[in-house]
Amino acid sequence: MTHLNVVQNYINGEWCASSATEHLDVMNPATAEVLARMPLSPADEVNQAAEAAQAALVGWRRTPPMERVQYLFKLKNLLEEHFDDLARTITLECGKTLTESKGEMRRAIENVEVACGIPILMQGHTAEDIAQGIDELMIRQPVGVAAAICPFNFPGMIVFWFLPYAIACGNTYIVKPSERVPLTLQKVFQLLDKTGLPKGVVNLVNGAKEAVDAILDHPAVRAISFVGSTPVARYVYSRASANGKRAQCQGGAKNPVIVLPDADIEMTTRIAADSAFGCAGQRCLAASVAVTVGAARQSFTEAIAAAASSRVVGFGLDEGVQMGPVITAQSRERIEGLIQKGADEGATVLVDGRQSKIPSYERGNFVRPTILQNVNPAGEIARTEIFGPVLSLIHLETIDEAIALVNSGEYGNMACLFTNSGAAARKFRYEAEAGNIGINIGVAAPMAFFPFSGWKASFFGDLHGQGHHAVEFFTQTKVVVERWPRDWSRQF
Ligand code: NAD
Repeated sequence: MTHLNVVQNYINGEWCASSATEHLDVMNPATAEVLARMPLSPADEVNQAAEAAQAALVGWRRTPPMERVQYLFKLKNLLEEHFDDLARTITLECGKTLTESKGEMRRAIENVEVACGIPILMQGHTAEDIAQGIDELMIRQPVGVAAAICPFNFPGMIVFWFLPYAIACGNTYIVKPSERVPLTLQKVFQLLDKTGLPKGVVNLVNGAKEAVDAILDHPAVRAISFVGSTPVARYVYSRASANGKRAQCQGGAKNPVIVLPDADIEMTTRIAADSAFGCAGQRCLAASVAVTVGAARQSFTEAIAAAASSRVVGFGLDEGVQMGPVITAQSRERIEGLIQKGADEGATVLVDGRQSKIPSYERGNFVRPTILQNVNPAGEIARTEIFGPVLSLIHLETIDEAIALVNSGEYGNMACLFTNSGAAARKFRYEAEAGNIGINIGVAAPMAFFPFSGWKASFFGDLHGQGHHAVEFFTQTKVVVERWPRDWSRQF
């Protein structure tokens, strides 16, 4: 294995080998091929990155916003130039299809584009004459060194919910990618390096818990953005807050979609299937439970079962493949165990994707689309995040019962309604307890200029990633009250 690339850290404008004594394999989840070795960087290397970022802050925050965004314009062009290579890398290490990887990179780039508007987005405001001759103004200043801790399922996009806004606002930055998919950010950082950003403005440290804890404890780091599972989000939020840092921590999800009898079943099925099985169900906005109301039950059940059975599963770089593998063999085992748990709780396994063997990819972590019917709404499967291509069906008689079920869940990342009724849509939008709502939409992913609004156990903090929220998160407000008395009858 000595011929394999070892993933590098990028600290203070230099690529450097980690001194880690432990390494993990980075695997292609479709072929089980080992792509590279990933160092579990020690706390020391995080400390070096934090010190480099702290030193760079002095000059970077004094660089005018108009100059700071010039680097982002360069980055946008470089990302476009290397778009196909980045998308391919995502597919290789994460398993999603090439089309899905391209969609992911498009979303990443949109955040760079929005952050290029920082000269206007980070403006403050002023009130003249709060008392006679006294003015008050609010200005936004950078918070300092900030850091992102990322999950495996969007190796190229999630860091862009934060990094472009952070540096455009005059902060310096540290990124800790997921240890399972570090390769895409190796390439992104090569592009960041090419932009000519001053040394120390952006830094990359590869690792796992030790690196995360070092970020959470370093006094120079003032703001933490985390995306991952709910138990770790809760932990990161608590430890960051206890250390006096601001934190925004996005957690897991269990996303319901409700299908009313007046919904267009053909369209609903297509969209719900994409939501449940796209990215092999490893999206925090994947539909996980479909609640049919009244007469929607039979037609939707038949149609979604057909959509699940016919989905083309395979290696994401192969032509015509609609769904790739799940990330690891352990994930696959866990998902298959949860399908069995659903059956044990009384559900029927209407379409069973367990023990899938894909010709030519027998070593891949494949679970085919699975449908569980008559899932017990009070059981574990209706409430646990499965994070795989499994859709649970529950049937209820009224929209009120369906909304009550949505609101009884622990999570609040997304909830969707399929209907032709504006009144039903408004009621749902008004009453559903989730931060991202879809009406005849299956993946209600906010555009870069809207906040990614998880609620309940899907989010810890108040300001979310992207758009105006990101600008607020990465700046602190300063209020100035000023009086300049002058007797104008006297000469200068
Ligand atoms: P994860 O929680 O296992 O890992 C996320 C990050 O936390 C990684 O960088 C990892 O190194 C670090 N980490 C893991 N365990 C840790 C520990 N004990 N202490 C400190 N750091 C630790 O999540 P994952 O499996 O990579 O990603 C999948 C999860 O992310 C799912 O639950 C999914 O719903 C969630 N997710 C949420 C959103 C959202 O916007 N809410 C978006 C994408 C993914």
